[in-house]
This record gives sequence, C-alpha cells and structure tokens, in this order.
Amino acid sequence: MARIFGLRFKEKRSAEEKWPAKEKQPANEQPAPANDQPAPANDQPANDQNDQIGQIGQIESFPDNGGGIEEISGLSMLYSPEQDAVSQVRDVADVLSEMGKITADQLSELRRMQKRKGNCDVCQVIKELEMVDEADISMATAGLHNLEFRRIDLKQVSKDAFNKLEPDYIKNNRIMPIAMRDDTLVVATSHPADLFIIEDVKRQAAMNVETVVCLDEDIDKVHEALVDENTNYDLDEIINDMTEVEVVQEHLDDTGDLEEQAGQSPVIKFVNYLISNAVREGASDIHIEPKQKFMRTRYRIDGVLFETKQSPLKMHPAIVSRIKIMADLDISERRLPQDGKIKVSVGNRAIDLRISTLPTTYGEKVVVRVLDSASIMRGLEQLGMESDVTEAFGEQVAMPHGILLVTGPTGSGKSTTLYSALSQMDGDKLNVSTVEDPVEYELGFCNQVQIIDKIGLDFASALRSLLRQDPDVIMIGEIRDNETARIAVQAALTGHLVLSTLHTNDAACSITRLVDIGIEPYLIAASLNAVLAQRLVRKICSNCKQVQPVSEHVAKYVKSEGIKTGQIFHGAGCDQCRGSGYVGRVGIYEFLVIDELFRDMINKDSSVNNMRRAFHESDRRSLYDDGILKVKQGMTTMEEVLRVTKVYGTNEDEDFVENIGSD
Ligand SMILES: [Zn+2]
Repeated sequence: MARIFGLRFKEKRSAEEKWPAKEKQPANEQPAPANDQPAPANDQPANDQNDQIGQIGQIESFPDNGGGIEEISGLSMLYSPEQDAVSQVRDVADVLSEMGKITADQLSELRRMQKRKGNCDVCQVIKELEMVDEADISMATAGLHNLEFRRIDLKQVSKDAFNKLEPDYIKNNRIMPIAMRDDTLVVATSHPADLFIIEDVKRQAAMNVETVVCLDEDIDKVHEALVDENTNYDLDEIINDMTEVEVVQEHLDDTGDLEEQAGQSPVIKFVNYLISNAVREGASDIHIEPKQKFMRTRYRIDGVLFETKQSPLKMHPAIVSRIKIMADLDISERRLPQDGKIKVSVGNRAIDLRISTLPTTYGEKVVVRVLDSASIMRGLEQLGMESDVTEAFGEQVAMPHGILLVTGPTGSGKSTTLYSALSQMDGDKLNVSTVEDPVEYELGFCNQVQIIDKIGLDFASALRSLLRQDPDVIMIGEIRDNETARIAVQAALTGHLVLSTLHTNDAACSITRLVDIGIEPYLIAASLNAVLAQRLVRKICSNCKQVQPVSEHVAKYVKSEGIKTGQIFHGAGCDQCRGSGYVGRVGIYEFLVIDELFRDMINKDSSVNNMRRAFHESDRRSLYDDGILKVKQGMTTMEEVLRVTKVYGTNEDEDFVENIGSD
C-alpha cells in the first residue's frame, strides 16, 4: 500500500513530465528491437547500402565483441525473431504475468530492459521499474520454485530453530530458521535458488532442510528482535554490583553499540539496560527520579507512565553522571537544569536521545526522550485514517499551493502525520524544506532548518530566507504568532504548499485561531486548503481482548451511538500490555476541506460557533464520530474516545460535545 500511495502522489505532482513520456512509449515499441541490434549498417562507411547479402560477407571486418548474434548481425535485417522467445527459460516475470500482476505490455517492456542491461537478473529489473512490490516478487519466486510463500514475524519463529544457526550467519546470508519438524529444519529465504546456502545450512544444522520463501525485510525484523531478546541483562545482579560503585568518570565511546558495551561497569550496564529496554518496549520517554528513600525509573509508553523499577537511592548520582557524560554535559553542575543529546545504536538502529536534567528536592531528575525515527516515519495509510480521509488528505498533500494545517494538543501525533505527508512527496523533483524548533527527527529527503532564538533565527526570519531559496513545499513546525502566520499565508498565495500545525482543539476552531492571531479572514479564505484535527487513542491489546461487560447506563449510551453492547471490547490486562489492556496507539481524525461554502463563511462570520455549526451540519465526521467508528471496529474503547475528545476548554465546548453525542 505504501508504495502505491507514494507513486500516486508522485505522479500527480509530476504529471506534466510523466504523461507525455508514457504516451510516447507505444510508439517506441516498434523501433526498439532495431535499436537493440546496434545496426551494423551504421558502423559501415555507408557507401553501399543496396546489397545486404554483401554485408553478410563482411562479417570478419566487424570488431569481435564476443556475442554470436553480433557477429552475424547482418542477418537480423533479413530475419528478426521475437527476441528471447526461443532462449527464454520461465522466470519470475513469467510467473508474475501468469498471476496477472503484470500486463503483456509490461512483460515485453521488462524483456527489452533486461536485454539492454545484458540479461541481468530479472528481479532487479522488476524492482527498478517498480512494476510490483517486494511481496509480489517473492510470491512469484515461490511460485517459480513450487515453494510456499510466507510472511514471517517473531511469533512464528521457534527459538530452538533460530538457535540452530549463528545469528551472524543468519543475518549475512539472509535466511531464517523458523521451525523444526522431526529431523527437518524449516528455513525461510528470499533467494531459494541459491542451493549452496541451502546445502550449507543442511551441513551446519546437521538436519534436512525444507525451504519456504519470505521477504528480506521480514528476516531483518525478526533477526533484530531475537538478537535484542538474547542480550540478557540481569538487573538485580547489576544493582548488587553497583552498590559498590561511587561516581564513574571515565569517558567512553558514547556513540558505540549499547550491546557491545554491556560487558562493562555496572553503572554503564544499568544505563544501557534502561535505554535499550525503553527502545524495545516502544517507550517515548524515560524518567529517572530521586525520591526520599529510593530511585524510581519510569517509562512513558503509548502516552502513559509505567514504573519499571525502584532501585537503591545511592545508585542515583552515578546513573546521572553516566548519562551526563554520554550527553557531554557538566557533571559537576547539579544546581542548574541542563540539556543535551546522545546518539546510540540499539539493535542496529541509530536512535537519538534528548536529555534534560532538573534539580529537585532529592537530587537531579533526568528525563530522556527517545527519538526513534522508525516510529515516526510511517506511511499515511498506517496512521489509522479511514479510507475516505486517507484519500482526501492525500489529495491535499499533492496540491501545488495553499495551506494544509494539522491541529491538536501536544502529543496528538501531529508530527508523525506531517512527516508521513512529507515522505510521500517526490524529494528528488521538489524542494521540500522545513523550519522546526527543535529538529527532532532527521529526514533524508528534505532540508531542515533548526530555529535558534538566541541568535535571532526565529520562525519568521528563517521562513523569509527560505522563501528566497526557491521552495516548492514548506513545513513550518508550528504557527505561533502573527508574523509566522502572515509569511505562511504569503507563501501559500505565491504558489507554495505550506504544511503546519496549530494548537487548537478541532478543525473549525483553527480558522478562528488564525483570525485571533491577526490574519484577515479574506486572506485565510484565499489561502487555507484544509485542516486535519487529530488525537491518539490507545489500541486494545490483541492478546487479552474480550467483550466488555457494560452497565445499563453505558449500554443505553452506546446504543444511542448505534453500537450493540456485544460489540464493545476491552483488554482484560495481561503481561504483554503491562496489565493496561492497551498496546500501541492509533489516530482519530476530523478533516475539513475548505470548500466554497466554508470560504464564503470565513469571509462573513468566522466565529467558533458558526464554524462548528457549519462543520456539524455538513456530512463530515468529527473526532468523536471517527472515534466511535474505531470502537465499532473493536480497535479501541469508549473510554479512550471520551478521554481524548472531551479535552475541551470551556463549558460551551463541553455542551457541543454533548450535543454531538446525543445526535
Ligand atoms: Zn493484554
């Protein structure tokens, strides 16, 4: 799906360049075979074109380039067979064609390309032409070899099977032992034709081998997770060791692999454990807090803090010093707050950590923010938007100019949405730039500008400079003041697409906010394309999901929403969800595309009430409605939807939510 969307958006942007080229292609098809034969006639002094038989007689005068066909290429002018038709052995492309994944035209294009590249690996050519995705190629590979195709994840891999081979061997050869049956080892691979590897596995495991086909990316994911799991930290042992340690001062290679350093001092072990465990658990923050009698460590997971450990208080100064050393902070300064950054690698992934220290009653509290770009860079279709919103939002991302706003409180996933939108754009053809405070995630495909208030590089001045840099798409971290808003409007009106965020509760409210900031309604009407309001709700843990028993009162309420009581689920709580009943989060959205009606209204009366009434009267889904859909789908609970959609400021807002609820 990800690729399909990517392509769609890219094509929209570059439609003018792409379509003419595509239309030309059928015309190219005819002359192409002639081009493939490097036309001996041209190499000739071209003095005598009337006698083709004569040319055959001149074969010997041609430079010998080793190919039999080339030597007698004069013949090709008399007889030109369907290329490859004779020599072609059935391959992945043929299977894809049989599967109906590629058309006959695509197949012949493939063959031509393959030929031009000197009969190279057909899979490589398919990938380059982006005709189908990796899964289709693997499926066809499996079909070609009469093997089973399987997506694999951690749950399907037996640890006993995994342990049959060395982790490095598994990684380097891109194979994954997934199960054992009697004396047979089931091995997943993306390249089943490589019989040497299969033979080698047989020898190493001293077992028979049965092969199934899977994706390289699945092998990498499972490998990483299993290697992570195998890195043992016995926390109690570390803590026992640590009571001997005072303050550690030595400076180590701080960008090194956390697991490689694990064999070192107990303090280092403990800090490494805290960080790699946080990454593994998907925590966004680590809190290290000195209390009166102990040190508490907590992780924020899916927006909620969980206590992980209470440790002896005497460990605390050493832990803080270690983190400060890693972040290049002043370890002797304990009375003032400090902040810094650490780069670490966990399970082959580079992770950025942002450190902040704060003096509290019992010592320095440290908060480590985990900036894992793998968690923020998702495809738009993975954000949990309903298909109509995905499509409408995708259309807005592909617009050539105007303002697209994403709104919601802190921690509502606005950045993820914006980064996902940017990642859909064609960074090669477009100048995509961002102005952020701070730049938390480094994106390869665009130019990111970090705000530095101290030297006067604020949003407004950075934006003014950026506009002189021939931009196509500008992402502004946040519109906070009149000046930034004004430049955003100006940029949008002069042919740029501007993406930004606002701290407002709902889509309708954003228009009023822009007016409050001091932007004239007619300018808003002219420049604003659409507003997406969003929240994150926690997803019910699939391991302990069950039908939720509800009271009569609640039953009545949900019935009014069109949900049957037997359709309401919750998580009972289990090990996998730390007893919370939830794992992971998903967005709920309300999307307001500014149409003629709204444009007109912004010009006439852009008050909150008017905007909201208009939104409600239109057929658009509100945040609450979208949440209810997700309750119906068994994805989240009523409590979650109410928790995140009822965070409205005034009573008037509360009434409004009540009104939507009773409709
Ligand atoms: Zn659970």
